[in-house]
Amino acid sequence: MSRNSQLFERALQTIPGGVNSPVRAFRSVGGSPRFIERAQGPYMWDAEGTRYIDYVGSWGPAILGHAHPEVIRAVQEAAVNGLSFGAPTEAEIEIAEAIVARIPSIEKVRLVSSGTEATMTAIRLARGATGRTKIVKFEGCYHGHADSLLVKAGSGMLTFGNPTSAGVPAEFIQHTMVLDYNRLEAAEAAFKQYGSEIACVIIEPIAGNMNLVKPLPGFLQGLRDLCTQYGALLIFDEVMTGFRVGPQGVQGLTGVTPDLTTLAKVIGGGMPVGAFGGRADIMEHIAPIGNVYQAGTLSGNPVAVAAGLVTLKLLSEPGFYERLGEQTRKLAEGLAERARAAGVAVCSDHVGGMFGLYFSEAVPHTFDEVSLANVERFKRFFHAMLIKGIYFAPSAFEAGFVSAAHDDATIQTTLDAAEEVFASLK
Ligand code: PMP
Repeated sequence: MSRNSQLFERALQTIPGGVNSPVRAFRSVGGSPRFIERAQGPYMWDAEGTRYIDYVGSWGPAILGHAHPEVIRAVQEAAVNGLSFGAPTEAEIEIAEAIVARIPSIEKVRLVSSGTEATMTAIRLARGATGRTKIVKFEGCYHGHADSLLVKAGSGMLTFGNPTSAGVPAEFIQHTMVLDYNRLEAAEAAFKQYGSEIACVIIEPIAGNMNLVKPLPGFLQGLRDLCTQYGALLIFDEVMTGFRVGPQGVQGLTGVTPDLTTLAKVIGGGMPVGAFGGRADIMEHIAPIGNVYQAGTLSGNPVAVAAGLVTLKLLSEPGFYERLGEQTRKLAEGLAERARAAGVAVCSDHVGGMFGLYFSEAVPHTFDEVSLANVERFKRFFHAMLIKGIYFAPSAFEAGFVSAAHDDATIQTTLDAAEEVFASLK
């Protein structure tokens, strides 16, 4: 038995499913997950010493490449001074200032330790600040695993959804409406019927949890207008897209301004950091000045903040996003070209350091279109690429991530491998 398989067998004895987050278990592609020993730049090495070019990047944080020397140094220097104090630090002010300076819609920001905490609290804040109960989310968007967000659409267009997890009582999600992404008419209808009761609309302004799905022109602005008209808050969940698609997230790319924004992943540089922020008048509803409660023993953790701060600094270097976007374009377009040449129905899209690879005829714009992907063919692609040392996300429905460490040679190696693999899929 291979060492990865041995470790998986052992993990299964004490960890449910052998993993601490479900997608890592390779259940949707089959086979044994690779147990990672170390990572550097664009590469990861597993327990058997096999090297992979990594396009998961820890699901988004590793935008500088793994183990960037300046980030590692910052973490080491911070750790020497103590790991956690439960009292404020100057570094927390610095990272808050860095976020506020970079994202114009964020006037005040609170740090937490994960994306889940950020979205869960942003929703509580929206409800507290508006005094309303109902929330709107979109099918295919993931906002972490708070109870009221683990919902999928019900049968009718305007029905409230069904839980996607056991253990979530129907009563907990009866205030969550689930609408179709990129269908503004559905949001208009929802507001027409329930407008005065809707506290907020939460959306991934570019969706990265149903593969990569971009908003159609006018969709986000339409949501902005509806929220303004009916007095609801617009929350952009930029946990994935924040500092990933560009220096100001999707709001910078589209010019659509949310009331609240959630962040995580990149702002922690690989350490556990999340954040929610936005208009000062709304943020002042949060304890200790306001009556919306939120807290965290490890919030603003000094070691995690040190990693985030240096990451944000390095992202501000001139030309960073131009170069990252160019490398991502080369990869995404190159993969689609190799597939086309081999006569395999695969297409791609990309934005900043994120890409979508779709095993379907056309780039999807809705959840239904995403669902058309040829999952069986994706599985064969995934495993054949893995054998060639290229690590894509182990699911046909995840976005991919490129880092600043993915140079031309790395991308060429990937495209050469894909050329052979696509030919074998025909
Ligand atoms: N929101 C979005 C858009 C995400 O992609 C994720 C995680 N993939 C989350 C929230 C939850 O973040 P975390 O896993 O840090 O709790």
